[in-house]
Amino acid sequence: MTGLTNKVVFITGGSRGIGAAIANRFAAEGAKVIFTYAKSTHRAKEQEEKLKAFGVNAKAIQVDSADAVALQTAISDTTDQFGPIDILVNNAGICPSGDFSDITLTDFDEIMDINVKAVFAASHAVVKNMAEGGRIISIGSNLADIAVSGDTILYSMSKSALQGFTKGLARALGPKKITVNLVQPGPIDTDMNPADAPLADFLRSRMALPEYGTGDDIAGLVAFLASDEGKYITGSTLTIDGGMNA
Ligand code: NDP
Repeated sequence: MTGLTNKVVFITGGSRGIGAAIANRFAAEGAKVIFTYAKSTHRAKEQEEKLKAFGVNAKAIQVDSADAVALQTAISDTTDQFGPIDILVNNAGICPSGDFSDITLTDFDEIMDINVKAVFAASHAVVKNMAEGGRIISIGSNLADIAVSGDTILYSMSKSALQGFTKGLARALGPKKITVNLVQPGPIDTDMNPADAPLADFLRSRMALPEYGTGDDIAGLVAFLASDEGKYITGSTLTIDGGMNA
């Protein structure tokens, strides 16, 4: 893909799973990759070394997306160190599940802070210095459009919020030639949603291609959107779910 070499990429939640796959893909394309993580310092350091092995600048930053101010400070520090961010990937997210009657207001605040408020906070912070041709790509979920059970209500609610945000921000930033898009994965084999979990066979039974995707599947689409080839795509929601929502 063209146009990614030396770009400054900031990814939230890049120590594991989909975020790590996206980080690897951008490093392989020659971009500078800065990623955040919340808790897994050892894995984050390993991931940072893995990215540097591609011969690019890379940095892991421990910052909890639940702390919007700290996230914005991390973006400001990154800009000071590496220059303006060209590509923001809002990836970090949590997916708690359980009975509706057991959900507390604290649970509500936690998921909205991480899955929604952090996306706004990070996007708001990068736009200040983002140049023409910039990209904002958020990772939503196919569960924004369907409910396969009643156990992930807040998760679906949080990911639906990203659809409205993406459309509005795409229009706001169009004049600056910055694109804004939403990628909605279906079941992807990660710690969040292992392909051998008890629920996995049920999810496979709902799919046109009855198999889990990989982080690399998502990374390929994200890299395409960020590349020169993706420059005319904005305000779009792209579902990549093995046909689960078909
Ligand atoms: P994982 O749980 O496997 O990995 C999550 C990553 O995000 C880790 O790097 C983790 O860091 C980081 N993270 C989690 N919470 C925070 C936080 N509060 N602050 C900063 N970083 C945080 O998740 P996935 O890779 O599966 O999911 C990534 C995104 O894709 C999420 O937004 C998820 O909702 C979405 N998604 C995933 C699907 C799936 O089937 N896997 C399907 C649809 C959407 P640390 O290692 O420190 O914990």
